[in-house]
Amino acid sequence: MGYEIRTYGDPVLKSQSLAIENIDDKLVRLTDAMFDIMYEAPGIGLAAPQIGVQKQLFVYDIGDGADVLINPVVVESSGEWVYEEGCLSIPGLYVEMVRPKEILLKGINIDGEEVSVEADELLSRLFQHELDHLNGVLMFERMTPDQRTEALAEYRRLTESLESASGVREKSKGQEPKVIKLK
Ligand code: ZN
Repeated sequence: MGYEIRTYGDPVLKSQSLAIENIDDKLVRLTDAMFDIMYEAPGIGLAAPQIGVQKQLFVYDIGDGADVLINPVVVESSGEWVYEEGCLSIPGLYVEMVRPKEILLKGINIDGEEVSVEADELLSRLFQHELDHLNGVLMFERMTPDQRTEALAEYRRLTESLESASGVREKSKGQEPKVIKLK
């Protein structure tokens, strides 16, 4: 259907997504397309705004099966966990960040049923990252000021070297990912 992953600089990534009011065939087809794009990337999560759709929806699969969450909200969170977070919209960059370790989310599944999901560590981090996308928040806004400066410079370097190498922007295939550490 011509969807593609939007990358940093695209204004859609800064927009607030709207709540989904009904789950119809069109929405199911959208989630199918999102899974295809996520697996091809490859990634473990993808939020609708990342393909230019301003709807409160994300898909994910950390290896325990594919799932969809619609209109997700945080009920509670606790603890702290450090993880090198990456984003399909900021390819090639991983940033060590502290966020809550455990989270409880409420939302709606693709069958329209209310669900609550408890998540720990990687799944919890994924949920928090995708929720940020639904609120127009990117990783840069979660970094320390020092990390942000370093990450922006590194991302500029990564995208410029890709553009000059091929004339067009491509995915950072074969490029060493850059990790921005917490100091
Ligand atoms: Zn992301």
